Amino acid sequence: MTGGTHLVLGALSGATLAATGLFDSEPLAIAAAMIGALLPDIDHPYSRLGRKMRPVSDLVALVFGHRGITHSLLAILVMLVLLLQAPQWLGYAGALAVGYLSHLAADACTPSGVPLLWPRRRIFRVPGVSIQTGSISEMVVAGIGAMAAFFVIVR
Ligand SMILES: [Zn+2]
Repeated sequence: MTGGTHLVLGALSGATLAATGLFDSEPLAIAAAMIGALLPDIDHPYSRLGRKMRPVSDLVALVFGHRGITHSLLAILVMLVLLLQAPQWLGYAGALAVGYLSHLAADACTPSGVPLLWPRRRIFRVPGVSIQTGSISEMVVAGIGAMAAFFVIVR
């Protein structure tokens, strides 16, 4: 999926989580989820986030490759452990993790799938769904996601 679609789905997941009323700041929760939705592709130097953090993305891509550890449940666990070092941000860390999960779920809808149990090589895909990155199908998903996020935010 493209960075734009991940941002939209991150906004939708963050807005849905924020609608529970758990956060002092809904916009901050949505922003955290959107950032989380971009984080897995730090392993791709030409991704939206990878271009902005080039030395880091080059290193991650070199060591782990694209759709390696950053597209696994292990990455979420490591991220949460690191974020727990700042308990005052725990709720927003949860929003970040939800956005991160939205990225993995979206990539699991592509033919390449995701290695959720990395370093095991097994690839996970959503059965019966195969959305090619940059395709019309992805644009439809992004459009529906944007509309849904809008309605959740303005509810
Ligand atoms: Zn990805």
